Amino acid sequence: MKRELVVVAAATTAAATVAGVAFLVRQWRRQSNQQLSAQRILREFARRCATPTSKLWQVANEMASDMEAELAPGDRGGNLGVPVSYLAGLPTGEEKGTFYGINLRGTNFVIVRGKLEGRNEALSDLSRQEIEIPLHILSSADSTKELCDLMAVEVAKFVGLHVESDSKVEATERTLGFTVSLPVDDLLPSSALHSKWRRISVNDTMGGELAQEMNHALKKHGIEMRVFAVVNDTIGHLAGGRYYNKESVAAVSLGMGTDVAYIESLPQQIVKESSSEAAETAINMQWGNFFSSHLPLTEYDASLDAESADPGCRIFEKLISGMYLGEIVRRVLLRMAEESALFGDVVPPKLTISYSLRSPDMAAMHQDTSQDYEIVQAKLKEIFDIESSTTSVREMVTEICDVVSERGARLVGAGIVGIVKKMGRLANRKSVITIEGGLYEHYRIYRNYLHSTVWEMLGTDLSDNVIIDHSHGGSSAASIFLAASQTDH
Ligand code: ADP
Ligand code: MG
Repeated sequence: MKRELVVVAAATTAAATVAGVAFLVRQWRRQSNQQLSAQRILREFARRCATPTSKLWQVANEMASDMEAELAPGDRGGNLGVPVSYLAGLPTGEEKGTFYGINLRGTNFVIVRGKLEGRNEALSDLSRQEIEIPLHILSSADSTKELCDLMAVEVAKFVGLHVESDSKVEATERTLGFTVSLPVDDLLPSSALHSKWRRISVNDTMGGELAQEMNHALKKHGIEMRVFAVVNDTIGHLAGGRYYNKESVAAVSLGMGTDVAYIESLPQQIVKESSSEAAETAINMQWGNFFSSHLPLTEYDASLDAESADPGCRIFEKLISGMYLGEIVRRVLLRMAEESALFGDVVPPKLTISYSLRSPDMAAMHQDTSQDYEIVQAKLKEIFDIESSTTSVREMVTEICDVVSERGARLVGAGIVGIVKKMGRLANRKSVITIEGGLYEHYRIYRNYLHSTVWEMLGTDLSDNVIIDHSHGGSSAASIFLAASQTDH
C-alpha cells in the first residue's frame, strides 16, 4: 500500500514536471516571439529615424536656403516666419555697471540685477526674484496695464532692496532690459493676454505697445527706469554671447521649446530707412517652424503632430525639443505594448496617457548605467505603474530613448551648420553659437550627440570654426545684457 502510494506520487510528480516544463517552454517561446516582434518594431523605428551625414547636409542646406528666402523681398518666403526683431546695437563687451532686467514668462516674471565689468569679467553679483502673476491678471482679456503696474511695483521693491549695495546710484534714468520667454505648451489659461505675448515675437508693434505701457507704469510709480524694447529672450542670450565674444553670431534655446536668434547684416536699403545706425540686426528666426521633406519623420511623429494643439505646425520643434522627446518614446513603447505584449498581456493603462513621459525622466532612463537598469525599472514603475520587466525589455527602453534623442540632437546640429553656412562663415572664420535651455544643460547624451554631429558634418578642418558655448548666467540673466547694450556709456 505504502509502496503504491509512493509510485502514484512519483508518477504524479513526473507528470507535473513534464507539464511544467512544457508550460515553461511555451512561455519562453512566446516571450521570445514577443521580444522578436518588439525588436522588429524598434529596428524599423531606428531605420526611419536614421540621420546619415548626407541627410544632415540636406537639412542644413534647406535651413540655409529657407533663411535666405525669408529675407528676400516680396512674399516668396519659406516657413520660418522671420521677423526683423531688434534694430538696436548689441553689447560690445566693454559695458560696465549694475544693470537690471525683467523676464516675462507666461505665468510668472523674474526680476534680475547683475554687475558687468568689461569683457573679461563674468557677470557677477547676480540676484533674481521670481513673482507669480495672479490668476485674475492672467485670465483677463485686457490686463496689460494691470500687469505692467504689478511689474513696476515689484521692480521698485526689488531695486529698494539693493539700493545700498549699488553705492553709485546714478542720477540719470537707467535702462530696464525686458525679455519675454514664450511658453510652448497650452497649459496656461487661454487668455487674450497669453496669445498677445505669443505674438510679441512675430509682431514688434505688440512688443512696442508693451514697452510703452511698462514705461508708463514705471513713471507712474516714480521709478527712474525705462524700457527700450521688449524682445524675445533668445535675442537676450545672443546679446549675452556678444558681451563675451565678438564672434558670437547665434543663440539657440533648447528647453521645453526651441528658438534661434542670429545676427544678420542689414541690406543698405533698410539701414538707410531705419533710424538706427546699426548695420546689423538680431533676428529671431522661429526655427521650430522649419520643415523639410528631408526630415526623418515616422508614423509616431505623424500621430503626435495630428493629435497636437497645432497640427502641421512647428514640425522641427516636435522632433527636437524637450516637450516632445519623451512623448515620442511613449508612443513607440505603447505600440510595442499593444503589438508585442512588451509589458505583459495587458497594456499598462498609464502608458496610454499622452505626455506622461517627460524628457527629464527619459534622460534618466537613457543615462542609466546601473547593472540591470535599475533606474529604468524604477521609472517604468513610477510613471506607468509597470511592476516588473526583464533586463532585455529595459535595455530596449533605453535604446528607444537613444534613437529619439540622437535624431533630435543631430537635427539641431544640422540646423546650426545650416545657419553658419547661411552667414557664409563655415570657412576661415570663427563663429560662436550660444546654447541655452534645460534640455541642453541637463541631458548629457543629447548634448554630446549635438556636439559630435557638428564635428562630423564639418570634418577636422572646419569644425574648429564653429564653437558651441553654453549660455552664461542662466536664462533670466539675458535681460541684463540687453539693459547693458541699451545704456549709453
Ligand atoms: P523653457 O524655457 O523652454 O520652458 P527651460 O530652458 O527652462 O525650458 O528647460 C526646461 C526643459 O528642459 C524641460 O521642460 C525639459 O524638457 C528639459 N529638461 C530639464 N531637465 C532635463 C533633464 N534632466 N533631462 C532632459 N531634459 C530636461
Ligand atoms: Mg527658457
